[in-house]
Amino acid sequence: TGSAEIICVGTELLLGDILNTNAQYLAQQLANLGIAHHYQTVVGDNPLRLARAIAIACERARLIIFTGGLGPTPDDLTTATIADFFGVPLVENADVLADITAKFAQRGRTMTANNRKQALLPEGADVLPNPQGTAPGLLWQPRSGLHLMTFPGVPRELYAMWNATAISYVQAQGWSQGIIHSRTLKFWGTSESGLAAKVDDFLKLENPTVAPYASDGVIKLRISAKAKSMEAAQQLIAPVAQQLKQIGGDDCFGEDNETLGHAVGQLLRARQSTLAVAESCTGGGLGAMITSVPGSSAYFMGGVIAYDNRIKANLLGVSSQTLAEQGAVSAIVAEQMAVGVRQQLATDWGISITGIAGPDGGSGDKPVGLVYIGIANALETRHLECRFGRTKDREWIRLMSRNTALDVLRR
Ligand code: ATP
Ligand code: MG
Repeated sequence: TGSAEIICVGTELLLGDILNTNAQYLAQQLANLGIAHHYQTVVGDNPLRLARAIAIACERARLIIFTGGLGPTPDDLTTATIADFFGVPLVENADVLADITAKFAQRGRTMTANNRKQALLPEGADVLPNPQGTAPGLLWQPRSGLHLMTFPGVPRELYAMWNATAISYVQAQGWSQGIIHSRTLKFWGTSESGLAAKVDDFLKLENPTVAPYASDGVIKLRISAKAKSMEAAQQLIAPVAQQLKQIGGDDCFGEDNETLGHAVGQLLRARQSTLAVAESCTGGGLGAMITSVPGSSAYFMGGVIAYDNRIKANLLGVSSQTLAEQGAVSAIVAEQMAVGVRQQLATDWGISITGIAGPDGGSGDKPVGLVYIGIANALETRHLECRFGRTKDREWIRLMSRNTALDVLRR
């Protein structure tokens, strides 16, 4: 049959030491090209098991893409195992050897015998050039109707090789069954089930399909269309996206790679307003989200990480008496922090976060996950009380806190 299969080689993947982002990348690339792809395998640095994975893949795929195990060390055995499986000897490729030698000379490093191994390719295989690293991959049709590609494990090298050579090779085969294109609408301030109920009818569509999911507290609707061309897919998606945005209303803050930081940035830019932040339990995470948007210097002035009460008092002017009487995690302290940072940094807006991130601490009326967000401008000061402590997960509480603070500002 005609699909592609991905085989990722590396014991570190099996151990869970690293996430298999190579498979994610390749899967997305194949979907973009409209290449059917039904199986992914992860196998350790073990020739016997790798050979078994190859045997299985050969029976059901016409394109097998390998990543990992092209390096110079003895545990890197992908190329040798492939050659062995197809009963072909490894031969030293003079061009590759010259290229590796030149790369070492260029970097002023001495080449070891190990690196010579990286110039070995199965007899008859072509080179898949590696513009980013030492070792190239291979591009090989070991028998009619079966295509193999190998890539190093290092993601940066994989991307470079894929874009330089592999992508056009795959396109040229005429395997495309049309492309799959997706747009993702992002929501904050609604639950996954709440949103799904509102857009119920859309979830039954067939082309495009609409699927709700959530990650990191952000609720998403992925709209995917299958079509002959990108333009045709976009035309199928556009009217559905528009209707969904209308239903989502204010809760919809952006699309695809846009974060709440982008949404806030757009708003501040449009209003020509400036912002400063005062953070306690998020420890700078809010500022990090804001500044991860290119060009944020147009509206973001900076912030104070006021973790200790003395910093809240001395740098932000929070009343020591209030701190003593109400505690640092209180509505009034949040408001004073927002007012203080706005004044200190001379901005239009000040936002603050103070809360109990846990997992320990908290008590009675102030449980883990209790967070106050303060917001101040020239006209008014207000606060929001949030309870994020259901799971007592420190990172979750911090994430919810910074996202909610941005959400408060954008509305
Ligand atoms: P090298 O020449 O660096 O040894 P290699 O082809 O032998 O390259 P590996 O040794 O398997 O590749 O992996 C090198 C590094 O690339 C790993 O330490 C890991 O950080 C990363 N890597 C490997 N496989 C994957 C993968 N599937 N997804 C993401 N990263 C990976
Ligand atoms: Mg290696």
